Amino acid sequence: MDMERFNKRGMLIIPNPIMAKDAVHEKSLVVGQLYCPEGHDLINRRVVFNGYPGILIKVQRGSVTGLVGLSPICGDHARISIDIDLSSGEIMEFFCPVCDTLLPVHSPCSCGADLIAFFTEPGVDFTNCIGICSRVDCKNSQILINDELVSFSMIDAF
Ligand SMILES: [Zn+2]
Ligand SMILES: [Zn+2]
Repeated sequence: MDMERFNKRGMLIIPNPIMAKDAVHEKSLVVGQLYCPEGHDLINRRVVFNGYPGILIKVQRGSVTGLVGLSPICGDHARISIDIDLSSGEIMEFFCPVCDTLLPVHSPCSCGADLIAFFTEPGVDFTNCIGICSRVDCKNSQILINDELVSFSMIDAF
């Protein structure tokens, strides 16, 4: 890990560790930093995926709260839930586990729920963020850098 260099946005390109048969991309993007609106880093070593620290967020559904760890590897939908049972299709609210700030909506998801914004630099900037759907098991997520959607085909040009 020590020899790896994250770019200035804290992203790292690695060989795709996802062994699924339908994995079509040889390379994958790892998010190395991700912030709440108050500037707390949501990347946390308490949750590790393929050796990379994951995204730790607080989730709430009604009166039930818990922590969820998401894989920092783009396209990897691995997930760890702590103190909460997640049911497929449910819509959750996402909070910063440090300051309890509700993470803001970026845009509607095609499933009818919302894409929640995770900022790639400290500060609220909706042109530099990752959107993750608030619906459990919805696979939609997108990365916006300088207001452009970063697709996997563009990763090599990073
Ligand atoms: Zn925070
Ligand atoms: Zn969705």
